[in-house]
Amino acid sequence: MIPPELTLIGVVLAGCGFYLFKKNPEKLRNEIEGGFERRLSMSGYVRTEYPKWSWSFSRRQIFQACPRRYYYNYYGSHNGWEPNAPQEAALAYRLKKLTNIYLTLGNALHQTAERLALRVAEGRQPFSASEAEEMIRRQLRRVWRSSRDQRRLFLQRPNRVDMLHEFYYGRGLSEDVVELINQRAKQVAAALTTSATWEELAAKGSKLIAAEQFDTFELRGTSVYAVPDLLFRTEKGFWLIVDWKTGELALENQEQLALYALYVLQKHGVKPEKIKARLEYLSLAEVLELSFSRQELELVAEKAFQSMEEMRGFLADPELNAPKSPAHFPLTNQRRQCPSCNFYELCREELKQDPAPPEVS
Ligand code: SF4
Repeated sequence: MIPPELTLIGVVLAGCGFYLFKKNPEKLRNEIEGGFERRLSMSGYVRTEYPKWSWSFSRRQIFQACPRRYYYNYYGSHNGWEPNAPQEAALAYRLKKLTNIYLTLGNALHQTAERLALRVAEGRQPFSASEAEEMIRRQLRRVWRSSRDQRRLFLQRPNRVDMLHEFYYGRGLSEDVVELINQRAKQVAAALTTSATWEELAAKGSKLIAAEQFDTFELRGTSVYAVPDLLFRTEKGFWLIVDWKTGELALENQEQLALYALYVLQKHGVKPEKIKARLEYLSLAEVLELSFSRQELELVAEKAFQSMEEMRGFLADPELNAPKSPAHFPLTNQRRQCPSCNFYELCREELKQDPAPPEVS
């Protein structure tokens, strides 16, 4: 049973393979694949049979985690928002819209960080830790209440209502999870608000370039999405990419920042020696400073391109970005992630009939 006065804050990603994604994959995927919905809500909606081809770091992560999940997320849910959408597309679209308590927490934190960045760039003092904490709590409470009270509306209008995976699938939130998140709350809010990054951003001669801004750059003809948490030019003339992390140390976080460095190089024409990146692990009180050589960035581009080629192997028509049938996208062998997956409802029966091979240790 969830206490109504829930005061969740913080972020936990430890030990859960399904939650490996960037701080707010929900935001990213909504931005990336939500273009059609935005057009729907505007007068000039143009229907397309297939989604537009693009690539992002989180797309690669989803593809690697489970090809079927990748299918539902990027193809099976396409046009699922239409009133007469086929049942499976409508369901895939609805499930895609689910969030979970960890992502909600990450999103709340990043929204707070964005507000902080804008405030500091205007020459104002950062929020206090308690103010930041309250902003995060407010958002968590809102999503929790929506999940508790708005199920019917979510079934009708999944793009309008926040729904936690934990509520949708009836698992709820254990006291342990609530406690764990609460424990992280003060820690993360305090670490964010006292970060040395704000002093650098506030320094005379620094210039904010972007805070949580969605952008793209071209890589061999493919649009690649980049959403750095914070990007600014320092007083010493470096371009600094900052990423707020709320979970454990992971090598792939460095890969993600390398991709953003590539974006800064390609989109803004900044030399690699003038680009720096910083990973701030807020719940661990660890900061990792990174820089990348031109050769390293070329390698990043090559890896991205290889990933694109692999994904294209699942297309029936690469020109149209038309996928092969769902059966060509295998269910993951890492079945432990399935109960936490948004698309579990779609896979449940198939999973029963298709046992995973034993995991090799
Ligand atoms: S439930 Fe499992 S098999 Fe199905 S999409 Fe999700 S991770 Fe893949």
